[in-house]
Amino acid sequence: MNKLDAQRQKEIQQAEELLFAGPQALGFAKGLFQGHFVSDWVMPYPRIPAAQQIELDETLTELRQFLDEHLDPAEIDRQADIPRSVIDGLGRVGVLGLTAPKEYGGRGFSQMANCKVLEEIGRRCASTSVFVNAHHSIGIRALLLFGTHEQKQQWLPKLVNGEQLGAFALTEKEAGSDAANVQMQARSTEDGSHFILNGEKRYITNAAIAHELTVMARTPVPGSDKTAITAFLVTPDMPGFEILEARMPKMGIRGTATGRFALHDVKVPKENILGQMGKGLKVALTVLDFGRTTFGACCTGAAKTCLELAVQHANTRKQFNKTLGNFELVKKKIARIAADAYAMEAMTTVTGSFIDRGLEDYMLETAMLKVFTTERLWECINDVFQIHGGAAYMADLPLERMMRDARINQIGEGANEVLTSFIALVGMRGPGMEFKEIYDTMMKPSRDRVSKAWAAGKNRLGATIRVPDVPVQSDELLAHARRLGRLIWRFNFAVNRALITYREPILDMQLVQERIANAAMDLFASTCVLSRLDSEIQFARRNGDAAPPDHSAADLFLRQSFRRIRGFLGALTDNDDKAVFAAAKSSLAKPSS
Ligand SMILES: Cc1cc2nc3c(=O)[nH]c(=O)nc-3n(C[C@H](O)[C@H](O)[C@H](O)COP(=O)(O)OP(=O)(O)OC[C@H]3O[C@@H](n4cnc5c(N)ncnc54)[C@H](O)[C@@H]3O)c2cc1C
Repeated sequence: MNKLDAQRQKEIQQAEELLFAGPQALGFAKGLFQGHFVSDWVMPYPRIPAAQQIELDETLTELRQFLDEHLDPAEIDRQADIPRSVIDGLGRVGVLGLTAPKEYGGRGFSQMANCKVLEEIGRRCASTSVFVNAHHSIGIRALLLFGTHEQKQQWLPKLVNGEQLGAFALTEKEAGSDAANVQMQARSTEDGSHFILNGEKRYITNAAIAHELTVMARTPVPGSDKTAITAFLVTPDMPGFEILEARMPKMGIRGTATGRFALHDVKVPKENILGQMGKGLKVALTVLDFGRTTFGACCTGAAKTCLELAVQHANTRKQFNKTLGNFELVKKKIARIAADAYAMEAMTTVTGSFIDRGLEDYMLETAMLKVFTTERLWECINDVFQIHGGAAYMADLPLERMMRDARINQIGEGANEVLTSFIALVGMRGPGMEFKEIYDTMMKPSRDRVSKAWAAGKNRLGATIRVPDVPVQSDELLAHARRLGRLIWRFNFAVNRALITYREPILDMQLVQERIANAAMDLFASTCVLSRLDSEIQFARRNGDAAPPDHSAADLFLRQSFRRIRGFLGALTDNDDKAVFAAAKSSLAKPSS
């Protein structure tokens, strides 16, 4: 086997271990790739149970009051620090342990409710929302999800009230996007009671202020010469723990403490392993599912701020004797921000509900949410920035800070390019396996194979001839629902065609993957918008409201999203890919001067 084949084999093995182990339930997004509309999971639009809504409303009121009085995002940016008094206040309000079970001092909130809280923080200060995410969404998540009762009892109470802080440490110099390439080593002591950890981590939020760090390190696989990743709970008081840089100077989210640390022969008790030995990558990816969901919530909050700022400026600033809101090119931007903010909220709520309902399979949806909301927020900020003209460039307005802060979103917790590929490849795996079944049977028929191939063929054929039903309750949405159903059908057709045309090389064809992933993301976003709008219309009807709710933003989103989907699918056959590769090849071949 040559080096390239060996690398491919390694990647496939890692991907199998990460993504495909365990039962393969048909999640909503996977359903889309199969040509199905798994309506039960997205309709009716999820709601927070009444009892928890009361608790959430109280928390939001308390949080708003605290943030109004004590949070100064501009000062946090200037000082490159979140004051301890703010962290303590967030702890008192319960924000730092919202989803932790009550028995460990948490609030026992659902993800949907947690997202509402993060939206509120994201609306005001990205440094603070990223700090909360680093601590609660990912820092203590492995402990919450994979910790034993003893581990939770020992660590959680102080972490959920903010007395202590958490961090999640995966990234290293050689393990950025290639997260599986962790080099930090952990070897067992002879008596097996401890592990000795050595290596360095970088770009870790909260590294130097955390009291507990979930650290990914490579452990030997017993009985083989292989290694696998294991999650360890490390504390900075362990001898050999060294902070190399407490606060790396940076462009945005300057209030967060992004650090580098080294472990030199750090002795960690085996009781500090989180989850199973060798299953650390699974732990890490599951943790990141939560991080990506609250990413969506924070972006939603920030997009709402963009809308507020855009509207306020467009209604007051006059040029050519008119307020800016009278110009069509300004209206277009404001309408787009309103449409995107509506969709981001809907998508976050639906994704949060997947976690709350205990679905075993939401990896695709959380990746979609992360990519979609971070890309849309970047556009929103660009639009509101443009509407403000030169004033946006000045440091007395929050816009330049918001722009600096938002840029990390497309990179952190999985660069969007990597997640885009992931969405396409994981999504296509289901139909791809069915085609493989059919192909293998044609090449080497056997009785067992024929029956499996028959089932696969029936499924593929069924999806090809059946336009999925998108069940809405409101008559005025039937046309949108039919359009969405037809687009899902077209999408499935395009996926099948790509799989049949390109076969295995599709694993490397990122431009094809990007179009498929983009179409899938817009299908998911449209579904969430349609579901939310349907529920709002029905709610108003049940309430006996005289006027129907204003659904202009949702309507615009659906129209624009459907247009984008048609564009992505059309570009699968009508594109400039060859010219792109030629120009890239030419540039990449030129030695840099
Ligand atoms: C402010 C900040 C806070 C962070 N906090 C944490 C934290 O708390 N914990 C933690 O573990 N990590 C954290 N990170 C690390 C973050 O998750 C990584 O920066 C991110 O995963 C990207 O890795 P990288 O920076 O090494 O970029 P690289 O892996 O070098 O990638 C650079 C670029 O190359 C492109 N690229 C890479 N691979 C592919 C591919 N397969 N296909 C197409 N394009 C590709 C993408 O455009 C990508 O942006 C943080 C980073 C920052 C900047």
